[in-house]
Amino acid sequence: MSPELKTIIRLQDLDQQIAQLSGWIQALPRHLAEIEKQLEDIRRDHHEAQERIAANQKQRKQHDLEIQAIEQKNSKYNNQLLDVKTNTEYRAFLNEIEFGKAAIRKIEDQILQLMIDMEGHEKRLKETEAELKRQRQQVAAEQQEAEQSSRKKQTELEVLMEERKSLIAGLSGTAQDLYERLAKLRNGEVMALVRDQTCTVCHVMLRPQTFNEVMRNAEIIQCSNCQRILYWIPPPEANSSPASAPVENTVDQTKV
Ligand SMILES: [Zn+2]
Repeated sequence: MSPELKTIIRLQDLDQQIAQLSGWIQALPRHLAEIEKQLEDIRRDHHEAQERIAANQKQRKQHDLEIQAIEQKNSKYNNQLLDVKTNTEYRAFLNEIEFGKAAIRKIEDQILQLMIDMEGHEKRLKETEAELKRQRQQVAAEQQEAEQSSRKKQTELEVLMEERKSLIAGLSGTAQDLYERLAKLRNGEVMALVRDQTCTVCHVMLRPQTFNEVMRNAEIIQCSNCQRILYWIPPPEANSSPASAPVENTVDQTKV
């Protein structure tokens, strides 16, 4: 095979590896964000526990104020008791005071329930805190690994780019242009293997003369249909002579 064809085959191989590595490196931020997403559930649980505690504290404060208000009212009634003139009035104040005390007992029961609930909320908060910490460490480790892997791939990419540069420099200007044009046009698939006198990519049959030329692997010959550069690898079982009695029903091949 001609050095030029060998270079182009290697170049195509390199470019495919380069595309893969670049794709991986470019996807890193998205990948890191996906890893971060693992924390969503536990973050939410932790936040919920915090909110329950805050709500509990708020209710508790409200109940304390309620009790305070009733106690103030009762102490006012107690003072007024000293000044009452009639038995009925006296009884009315006593009733009010009793009513207030009953209300306080009821609120105190609610406060007790809040305190019991609070124990559960605090336990849950501690659990979610510990779990969040554990998962954060895990996520950080995974992200670090991904970043390391990305740096390694970056180095690999630089080595490949260097090799690509020297390969490109070894090609004639015409071959370079053709390669770059085809790479763009055919999404990196520049070369087409010929088998059974046919371009294995677009499946168009070669004219016998073109086929004979391709089998020499001596120069750049493009497929007349898909424009890819044709090359030939003798099948292991075949002898070296070109296929005989080639079919006439073919299209023209373009030579560069
Ligand atoms: Zn083709």
